[in-house]
Order: sequence, then structure tokens, then C-alpha cells
Amino acid sequence: MLEQPTVKCPSCESDIRAADESGLVNVLQEHLYEEHALEMPRERVRENVYAQLKHFDGYNARPISGA
Ligand SMILES: [Zn+2]
Repeated sequence: MLEQPTVKCPSCESDIRAADESGLVNVLQEHLYEEHALEMPRERVRENVYAQLKHFDGYNARPISGA
């Protein structure tokens, strides 16, 4: 049984849950906009989500290359 991935909002530490990582990016981006009036670019939201998910055992996050 797979656990739903969870990340924390970088602004208020709320738990953000979704079925998968792209869902997390959507949910966190919406949360930031609705709760904090922050329009964070999708790339930045994704980087934050991936960075947090890398701490989970067994999750094979692709390294963010470039930049
Ligand atoms: Zn928040």
C-alpha cells in the first residue's frame, strides 16, 4: 500500500497532500496563492516539492539538473 506523499507549506507549515508529485505541485501552488497571496512560479513550487520528497525513503526523485 502506497502512502500519499506529503509536503509542508514553506510559509505556514501546513501539510499538503496529493496523490502524486505533480498533484502536490498543483495543490501547493494553489495553497500559496489562496492562503498567502503568493504567486510562485510553477518551477519554484516543483523544486520545493521535490526537495521535500527526497527525504522520503524509497522515493527516487530525479535530481534537478541545470540552473
Ligand atoms: Zn501555507
